[in-house]
Amino acid sequence: MSTQPPLDMDTVLANLEQYCAEHAGPESVIELEQRLLDILDGHQSQQHHMSRGMSKRLPRWSARNEDMVPKDHYIQLQCHADNMRRELARMEKYINEARNNMVRQCQHEWQYDEWNRDHKSSYTCKHCGVDKRYGYVCH
Ligand SMILES: [Zn+2]
Repeated sequence: MSTQPPLDMDTVLANLEQYCAEHAGPESVIELEQRLLDILDGHQSQQHHMSRGMSKRLPRWSARNEDMVPKDHYIQLQCHADNMRRELARMEKYINEARNNMVRQCQHEWQYDEWNRDHKSSYTCKHCGVDKRYGYVCH
């Protein structure tokens, strides 16, 4: 009685690549993605990513859905948009934290910003881009 060696990821991906090459139609690709995500979700992919500080995978949405009544489609799109707004707000919190860390850790080197005509004198850091007078990142 022989036992097969465990599959390595390169073999699995090579088989997937071959499958895609042989079944290149849009329906096959869409179904493959969904089935792969179902398998990964069954192994707590979302939780593993989030435990490492990564974002949730946002679900796809459809601009058209002929199988739904218009009101349900509208509600579905609103729900997706609400989820995306929440995720964007969460991301902006992390952007602000990253910006503050960047500004705190930078050894600022001020240079005159000749392109900024709004201020009498404007200096920005040539490393992080923070404006010397206002403390915000210009770029
Ligand atoms: Zn700086």
